Amino acid sequence: MDCKKITKQSVEKFLQDKTYKHLDIKCALIDMDGTLYNSMINHTAAWYRMMTELGVKCDRDEFYEYEGMTGAQTINVLFQRAFGKTATDDEVKELYHKKTLYFQELPKAGIMPGAEKMLEILAQNGIKRVLVTGSGQASLLDRLQKDFPGVFTRENMITSKDVTHGKPSPEPYLKGLEIAGVKPNEAIVIENAPLGIKSGADAGIFTVGITTGPIKSEKMLQAGANILYNSMEEFSNDLQNLIKATKEI
Ligand code: MG
Repeated sequence: MDCKKITKQSVEKFLQDKTYKHLDIKCALIDMDGTLYNSMINHTAAWYRMMTELGVKCDRDEFYEYEGMTGAQTINVLFQRAFGKTATDDEVKELYHKKTLYFQELPKAGIMPGAEKMLEILAQNGIKRVLVTGSGQASLLDRLQKDFPGVFTRENMITSKDVTHGKPSPEPYLKGLEIAGVKPNEAIVIENAPLGIKSGADAGIFTVGITTGPIKSEKMLQAGANILYNSMEEFSNDLQNLIKATKEI
């Protein structure tokens, strides 16, 4: 089966499941870590170092599974497991700060190959670009302006500071729809992590899952991805075709 057919079928299946008449893409809600930046390798290393130093037994790869949660949520998953209680607000603040410092010590994460092309195709098609991230790390948020000039400003960005519940709650993507002024069937979500995919899917939005780390594609499908790509480059190469498919249905 060819690629174009799969893309079209994914959109048709989504419309059927949701009983939407059309998918009229006016806005793309785009995740940051592991989507725009190849940064998860550093995040997982920083989390692992901070938690191990604290005496919490953990596995480096498990932090890929928590991607999309806020820092406080991630800390509390491990606190519950290790100590049977949640961390205090002061502990969360101190530990997230420490994790951020360890992250900053690591070599700068690169732009995800294919991400710039993806942003360009969206702009060429008049599709609004909005960032929806669980991160609150200023170091990466500040880089966005420099790395993607004119694309992301504070007005078209939802970060951990704008939500009560992080991914997998639908709240971040619902807030993304709100600031873009569009309905769920007028947007797509672009995500690399199962919790982020669940957040987008539960917000009723066509959710593109892109494998950019060790997470298996089955987990992305279980989380609710409507279509899967093996890399950001593969997605950016098919994006025009996806946009075309939504107009033909
Ligand atoms: Mg991500």
